[in-house]
This record gives sequence, C-alpha cells and structure tokens, in this order.
Amino acid sequence: MAIRAVAFDLDYTLAIPERDRQTLLNEASEAVDGPTLSREAYLDAHRRNLTNRTREPIFEDLLADHDTDASAGALADTYRDAITDAIVPVAGAEALARELREEYRVGLLTDGPVRAQRAKLDALGWEDLFDAVVITGSLEAGKPDACAFRAELDALGTTADETVYVGDSAELDVAGAHAAGLRAIHVLSNGAASPAADAAIERDALAERLPGVVAELD
Ligand SMILES: [Mg+2]
Repeated sequence: MAIRAVAFDLDYTLAIPERDRQTLLNEASEAVDGPTLSREAYLDAHRRNLTNRTREPIFEDLLADHDTDASAGALADTYRDAITDAIVPVAGAEALARELREEYRVGLLTDGPVRAQRAKLDALGWEDLFDAVVITGSLEAGKPDACAFRAELDALGTTADETVYVGDSAELDVAGAHAAGLRAIHVLSNGAASPAADAAIERDALAERLPGVVAELD
C-alpha cells in the first residue's frame, strides 16, 4: 500500500527537553519546599563553586542565605530532572515536517498530559506544524496501546497500512505502531535499532535522511 501519511512522536524524536532556567529553578525549589531563588543569585553561587561535579554545593551556598529546611541535595536532583524535562527542537525538525507535508499527511502522536504537551508545542511554535495532533492524555490509553494509534489514524484520515510512525522508543513507538499495523521507523540516539522497525535513523541525521527512507518504504 502506498504511504500517504507520516506520523511522529514528539519527545526525543522531534524535540529534546529544554526550558527557561529561571522557571526550572522556581519549580525545582517549590518542589522541595525551598525559598524563591533568583537566577542571578544562582549564577553567583555557581561562579563560587565552579569545580564541583554536582550542583549540591551551589545549592548549599544559595540556601545558606535563607531560613529553610530544604535539602540542597534534593534541590540539586530536582533541578537536574527539570532541566532534563525542558525542550528544544531537533535540528531541522520543522523544515522536515514542512517538506514532508508537500507529499504526505503529517501527524503528531505524543504521550503525556494534554496541558503539558500543548505547552511544549506552544513553546516550540509548532501549533500549526502538523495536519493532525493527538495527545494521549485525552485518550483512555497511551502508546503502545493500539487505541492511541487508531486515534492518530482517525485524525489523519489514513489507514494503518498507508501510515508510517517515527519514534525513539522501541517499546512505545516501534512495537506499538507495528502491532497497530503501521510501518515504524526507529529514531536512535545511542542505542540499537529495534528488530521490529522497518528502518532506523540516527536522530542527528533524521531531517536529512527521513524523506528518502520513507520514499524507499513506499
Ligand atoms: Mg519519545
């Protein structure tokens, strides 16, 4: 069956977590019942503690100026997790979606709470980048459940055998798409390709290689 649609996962496929550092700092400190910390104070403390492997000494330094029981170690851990959760586009991702839309329907199927995932699309300026966006927080089940892929196909107006799914998770994206009858392309960062994948592409080369790989599957 000819390919009529290409659907993407979002996190670690088209975008990598990254967000405003002051927001991340606020959220991290709130999470451990810590005080409000300014980015400037953080950077000052950072400059005083440049040689440490972790951020714990920076936060010890910062928290010493406040009347708080918050743990510097917990705050350092929470802040690291928050940074890991923030978001930036993979190089060429936006141009890739626009290029593919000249020939195919292009969709997004992403797991997560609707507000959080919408906020990521807003932050990326991608509200109108796709023909169809499905966020599994609005469904009964997320990937790899077939209902997630069916919702994406409904939104795209294509059948499973006309649609390719592109994602980084062997279990959620590749196995899920495959089980739902779609072809699957595995996006790799430093792991091995899933045997269930129809093709695999290194994430750094995704924008450059994907159109050719989809054309070959067609
Ligand atoms: Mg992903």
